[in-house]
Amino acid sequence: MSQERQENLAAFAVIEKRFRRWGLVSLFGLATFILCLILGAAFSPKGAWFVLMILGSWLALVGGIVVGDRMFRCPTCRTRLAGSKGDYCPECGAHALSREHWWSPHACAACGRVLRYGNKGGRLFKQRYCSHCGCHLHEQGV
Ligand SMILES: [Zn+2]
Ligand SMILES: [Zn+2]
Repeated sequence: MSQERQENLAAFAVIEKRFRRWGLVSLFGLATFILCLILGAAFSPKGAWFVLMILGSWLALVGGIVVGDRMFRCPTCRTRLAGSKGDYCPECGAHALSREHWWSPHACAACGRVLRYGNKGGRLFKQRYCSHCGCHLHEQGV
């Protein structure tokens, strides 16, 4: 493994760890928010603490997603990975993505992978390489 590739992997591992931490924050927010809904339905509490709890959990939920998404970047070219649709295949790193039609999903000519996105814009494939600059980010893919 080359020195540069190793540095990329290490740099991205740090980013991924932070990304997962923020994911946990939003998960915690979601859990608290659901707890608030149950509490609200069962006891209809009217104290300020209850409003604060709802606000706090909502902030954690949304903030965790937004901040996590913002820091989930390629360590080399700083492109945000969530919305990046570059020329490199995120699965094999080949510069071989087809761009036949704007309405059809990109497909990789090297590994045959079709890059599909879910109806909420989420990726339905693994990200091993940055699709913008093609640098290696992760061994197994995230
Ligand atoms: Zn590929
Ligand atoms: Zn990149």
